[in-house]
Amino acid sequence: MQPAQRMSTLGTETAFEVLARAQQLEREGRDIINLGIGQPDFKTPGHIVEAGAKALHDGHHGYTPSPGIVPLREAVAEDIGRRRRVEVHPDRIIVVPGGKVTMFFAMMIFGEPGAQIIYPDPGFPIYESAIRFSGAEPVPIPLREERDFSFDPEELLSLITKRTRLIIVNSPANPTGGAIRRAHLDRLVEGLADHPEVAILSDEIYSRMTYDGIEHTSLLDYPQIADRLIVLDGWSKTYAMTGWRLGYGIWPPALVEGATRLAVNCHSCVNASAQFAGIAALEGPQDSVLEMVAAFDERRSAIVRGLGALPGFRCRTPVGAFYAFPNITGTGIESETLQRRLLEEVGVAVIAGPSFGAQGEGYLRFSCANSKENIERALSRIDGMLADDIRT
Ligand code: PLP
Repeated sequence: MQPAQRMSTLGTETAFEVLARAQQLEREGRDIINLGIGQPDFKTPGHIVEAGAKALHDGHHGYTPSPGIVPLREAVAEDIGRRRRVEVHPDRIIVVPGGKVTMFFAMMIFGEPGAQIIYPDPGFPIYESAIRFSGAEPVPIPLREERDFSFDPEELLSLITKRTRLIIVNSPANPTGGAIRRAHLDRLVEGLADHPEVAILSDEIYSRMTYDGIEHTSLLDYPQIADRLIVLDGWSKTYAMTGWRLGYGIWPPALVEGATRLAVNCHSCVNASAQFAGIAALEGPQDSVLEMVAAFDERRSAIVRGLGALPGFRCRTPVGAFYAFPNITGTGIESETLQRRLLEEVGVAVIAGPSFGAQGEGYLRFSCANSKENIERALSRIDGMLADDIRT
């Protein structure tokens, strides 16, 4: 066999590998506390599950229109209108199997040899992987701890060349839990006026998860870039629906046709019952979202406090998503070594910072998607391991 050369360019998500190793250790009888996982540990709210089941009982077993059923696309448009006060025509919304698909489509549309795509580092690992796969050159914009993991807009603008096709922005962010300040977005959008050929992909999958009264700023707030902005969002995180595989992209009119063709070529449509469940999620009560975010908020405080007290750790307070990204350079241990030791020696699964890009060295990602009790237990195990290190 002779697979295409580009197969060697695909990266992966270490989180899935850590999960597999953690499960293997569990099967061997070890007690593992998983703080590596990037999915809410809550159940999909009952009324959403019922809507999905009802759709199946009602006979919604067939293909749907490739960009999604009209009532779902209308529900998304209404939701955006309600929350963002921005009018988006349902024709611009393309429903896909998970947030990742919008990302992949954007890379397929803009990436090719010779092109450059700017992406956040540390950032969701699939950005860099999909950019490379497209043939384009990934150009990292560093997110630095001293800037609370927000980018420097001047630095970002300085990275734009004649070859830049797309800029990826993610706020609130995985893995840092940081959010980009409105002033920085203002400056970015202002600077982009000089680069009218550059498109923007705004990954807003954590938009409903912010803390300390911080309001999410959507790039939809900037009409100046509406004709070249792709917004990625979905149900996975907000409604604890990662396994349903349901997401959407808001596409500029000029790209709707191309993105729809990619959907027809790739997955045809999202499974019908998940789409009906998606309507129930958007139109039904939102209490479960608020309760989940409140629980993450409480765990966030516990984790930041606990991490800050560990020898060699220091941790900024995340303002969004459900991750903490402590600096571990004070331990003198490299991120990947510490990730491996924490799992193998004390049964705590976390993800090493370099899994999210070169700038991630010296950090670990802790997920709050586990109970407060388990978070406390994990912190005390880590404390014990580091204390033993100091003694020996
Ligand atoms: N974007 C970011 C920043 C993420 O962290 C994730 C999932 O972890 C996704 C997109 C993908 O979401 P989905 O599971 O809906 O494909």
